Amino acid sequence: MKVLKFGGTSVGSPENMRAVMELIADGEQKLVVLSAMSGTTNALVEISNYLHKKNKDTACVHIGSLEAKYKKVINDLFTSDESKKKGVQIIKSSFETIRSFTSGIFNEVGENTILAQGELISTQLFTEFMHENGHDAKLLPALDFMLIDEDKSADLPQIRKKIQPVIEAAGDATYFITQGFICVNANGDIDNLQRGGSDYTASLIGAAIDSEEIQIWTDIDGFHNNDPRFVENTRKIDQLSFTEAAELAYFGAKILHPQTVLPARVQNIPVRLKNTMNPSDSRTLITEESDGTEIKAVAAKDCIDTTKTRSGRMLMAYGFLKNVFGVFEKYKTPIDMITTSEVAISLTIDNTKYLKEILEEIEVFGNVQVDSEMTIVCIVGDIISEEKGFASKVFNALDGIPIRMISYGGSRFNISVLVPTTHKKVTLQAISDKVLNSNS
Ligand code: ASP
Ligand code: MG
Repeated sequence: MKVLKFGGTSVGSPENMRAVMELIADGEQKLVVLSAMSGTTNALVEISNYLHKKNKDTACVHIGSLEAKYKKVINDLFTSDESKKKGVQIIKSSFETIRSFTSGIFNEVGENTILAQGELISTQLFTEFMHENGHDAKLLPALDFMLIDEDKSADLPQIRKKIQPVIEAAGDATYFITQGFICVNANGDIDNLQRGGSDYTASLIGAAIDSEEIQIWTDIDGFHNNDPRFVENTRKIDQLSFTEAAELAYFGAKILHPQTVLPARVQNIPVRLKNTMNPSDSRTLITEESDGTEIKAVAAKDCIDTTKTRSGRMLMAYGFLKNVFGVFEKYKTPIDMITTSEVAISLTIDNTKYLKEILEEIEVFGNVQVDSEMTIVCIVGDIISEEKGFASKVFNALDGIPIRMISYGGSRFNISVLVPTTHKKVTLQAISDKVLNSNS
């Protein structure tokens, strides 16, 4: 059975929901993962922020306008009185849940419960819409099988174990519909797979049911070889290996949630990126194979902080790197790029939640300097570095750009440079002109 995930824009209006229905209703059994309607999760985050700040009145205004939006959706989406009534009931129950957090203490569980309502609403409305149009659809509650562990990592063995009986209990429906993004954590509370996490849900489910293919439907034509928002003359990519796609997604290509590739890769399930606005085009297939193109694409990841720690001890001291890494490990803060010299180490992080605490602890080992507003530019391909003078081509292209760090040779699939965010656009353009689009 294929798993198809549709993003927020794909289900962002009654017309788009109709288009998704027409797309999937071909009689072939499938499991469909839906995001919240576009704009909803942002609105729910905003509501939660007001509640955290104890600004109940403003939260209530925003809750009211989101509810009004959904009332209109119900009116436009459904034709029959019966379905309209069911729609009203769905909205009523979710908004009662949201409003229940406007009094009393507001904590993370409250926030996660509010954030979950977007996907809970979109999937219930869509399932009812399928029924109204005579399609045999069943809703699979993601909270019955999507589990994360104490470290907030997806628990694939448990998901695999739990999803099977849920599918069996649903009977032999043709279309199974479920929520992306939401899950249950080790405490048994509602949680989520982080923003954009519906892609990851699809891939986890794909792996859990040994799916033949995972399709991620968005509103753009697959991966591009550069970021079309900043650079002209970008090209679509037809084929990526799991590694190349993971590097591009991790280092800023917004089309795919960075963790999506992993479960698919473990089970060797192809991931196909498709465009809801252009369904016949089957853009970007991600499989085990690379098509062997040397330099395939570039992506950029902003909001990077870099710390440079100069060892307080003398040359040849050992244990310094271990001590520095230990602090990041303690605060569960992933490191993206690293460069070292004998006496210093520079590394980058994008999660700055514990930066203050981390700095306090690494200052014990040496002198620390922090630079913010940096961007990692990551060039990805099947780079057989020793053979082709690849590095000189990249570095010639970057002539005149202030590079703060370089990472090369860590893997055969990537070379990354760290530049100030103010220089991101020129860096991307230079790589486009002198590497991706040059014939030499
Ligand atoms: N609705 C969630 C978000 O906006 C998850 C997703 O759409 O992938 O982040
Ligand atoms: Mg997305």
